[in-house]
Amino acid sequence: MALLVKKFGGSSVATPEKMRHIASRVLKERNPDDQIVIVVSAMGDTTDNLLKLASKVTDKHYARELDMLMSTGEQVSIAMMAMTFCSMGVPAQSFTGPQAGIIAEGVFGKGNIIDIKPARVFKALAAGKIAIVAGFQAITPEGEIITLGRGGSDTTAVALAGAMRADMCEIYTDVEGVYSADPRVVPNAVKMKEISNEEMLELARLGAGVMQPQSISMGSRFHVPIHVRSTFSDNEGTIIREDNFGEEKGPVCGVAEDYNVARIAAVGVENVPGTAAMIFNELDKNEIPVDMIVQSVRRINDRRGDIIFTVASSDLVEAKEVLEKLKADGRINNILYDDNCAKVSIVGLEMLSAPGVEARIFGALGRKNINIDIVSSSKNSISCLVPRPKVDEAIRSIHAEFFKNKPQQ
Ligand code: ADP
Ligand code: ASP
Ligand code: MG
Repeated sequence: MALLVKKFGGSSVATPEKMRHIASRVLKERNPDDQIVIVVSAMGDTTDNLLKLASKVTDKHYARELDMLMSTGEQVSIAMMAMTFCSMGVPAQSFTGPQAGIIAEGVFGKGNIIDIKPARVFKALAAGKIAIVAGFQAITPEGEIITLGRGGSDTTAVALAGAMRADMCEIYTDVEGVYSADPRVVPNAVKMKEISNEEMLELARLGAGVMQPQSISMGSRFHVPIHVRSTFSDNEGTIIREDNFGEEKGPVCGVAEDYNVARIAAVGVENVPGTAAMIFNELDKNEIPVDMIVQSVRRINDRRGDIIFTVASSDLVEAKEVLEKLKADGRINNILYDDNCAKVSIVGLEMLSAPGVEARIFGALGRKNINIDIVSSSKNSISCLVPRPKVDEAIRSIHAEFFKNKPQQ
């Protein structure tokens, strides 16, 4: 007997026909005594459409109410999916995140799962039912509905698999697995048979939208094996595992791009200790994460300098509110905002010790005449900020540089 958690993303459940296809496939592949938990996202573009709907009322960010609104998308999917199974003569029961015991805390729109009490889900399985759980939503200890960030159904699925000690968490999506780059942007990207948690976390963190980064951290914390595969084909996908399987790998495992990036320049700030702390503390207090940071003074003894950094584009409205207050208080002279940039990154374990990688990245971008605004690096990645209209060309060029002759795995 196996306990399997299967997550189906928005495009997989976009229509009632697709739901029927999923139900038929699950039933065909199930062994008689398997226990099945299905986690679903909102149908198709529902979440984006709900956000657009909200913007018709106001362009202010009422985070609690937005979560209340966005969480309805997944509630439609669970009921539709459960009725699909029932109509095929198979008992199934739907659960919202709160009903499935998924508890999260943090700010609205960015909830972090802190506990799962899946007693009702176990009870449904014991009664021979298929359990259908809403992804992306949870309840706070205070009883508020909270969502888990875009792509959060991945995290619901992996966390539930961990809490229920499932044998496998399968992530069904609209591509055949994890590739060396987004296959929609880089048509000759290479599908990976396996990838380690560490590599996948870095790719996801840097924008590979196939998995939400929090789901990978959750998977490694609870030792959940994850299989990313296609809803629409039977081919094996990519296994995300704990170790690096002792395999000899090249310096680069994949490239990622992130369009959700905005650049902010605090111009002419005082070049004295505590200035950067003042700006970043304010942003942190408002739960706005900062990513790339460059601080520069033009001449050694200049009394003023610039601090340039990036935040998620989706956080730009809140970041502006915070920074404009500092400007009004006279603590920053001038602030410039640029919401037309994007980040390309290259990922590989121990990137910092791989000689010549930077030169090859810069060469690939230079040959395409793509300007680099900021460069940052970590142990496992190097990232460049480039103009947003150029990002696809940038990623194709970098990918071609590092994956010239790599065969499909
Ligand atoms: P779902 O709705 O199933 O959660 P998502 O759109 O969130 O699907 O994630 C799947 C998408 O992730 C793919 O369609 C693909 O365009 C994108 N993607 C980005 N980077 C990668 C990558 N390295 N490998 C596979 N897919 C990727
Ligand atoms: N429906 C949510 C989103 O679009 C969650 C998810 O799909 O994982 O972000
Ligand atoms: Mg997704």
